[in-house]
Amino acid sequence: MALTVENLTEWINSFAAKIAEQKDYLSELDTPIGDGDHGNNMARGVKAVQESLTSKKPAELTDAFKQIAMALISKVGGASGPLYGTAFLEMAKKSKDTSDLTELFAAAAAGIKKRGGAQVGDKTMVDVWDPLAEKIKAGNLAQADVDAAVNATKDLVAKKGRASYLGERSVGHLDPGAVSSGYLFAALIETEGI
Ligand code: ADP
Ligand code: MG
Ligand code: MG
Repeated sequence: MALTVENLTEWINSFAAKIAEQKDYLSELDTPIGDGDHGNNMARGVKAVQESLTSKKPAELTDAFKQIAMALISKVGGASGPLYGTAFLEMAKKSKDTSDLTELFAAAAAGIKKRGGAQVGDKTMVDVWDPLAEKIKAGNLAQADVDAAVNATKDLVAKKGRASYLGERSVGHLDPGAVSSGYLFAALIETEGI
């Protein structure tokens, strides 16, 4: 499985469509355990990503990843902006050597963990990125895995980010960043030829 500028653009456009469609839902998820802005943050970010990729068509995979990262870092804001940005910057770096999905996602997941200091089980986007990067490595990522990883955040106690201020009261709510990250993996599964 390998990425090209073409299928990467298709994947990101599909992710952007899901975010736009679920914008209100993502902000609703962020209301009881956060500040209610995750959908708006992400929708602003993916719009900027699409504008960047259309106004300047990237020549190489590395340029595409960099443009995506820069748009996310400058437009998403909050805790999630720098974390999504880091994921794509790490993929940009790794893409100089390889277009292999396993290596790109391993680098992205490691980058998010390093940048945010969260581990699996802390009720963050790491609970989606880390196990699903492993599924990609095993060559069997499926939508059921995405759903399982996202839904597993519901029973966890938040240890990082705004939701951690609630401690035990964060239990019973899905993590919004895990849900938005789930859309990224769902879009990947749906993109043909990756
Ligand atoms: P903010 O909390 O600043 O308003 P968002 O609402 O856009 O930012 O994003 C919140 C999401 O960011 C959380 O649901 C969680 O998935 C993710 N997040 C927050 N802190 C961390 C962290 N330290 N490591 C990984 N993910 C994190
Ligand atoms: Mg928020
Ligand atoms: Mg916020």
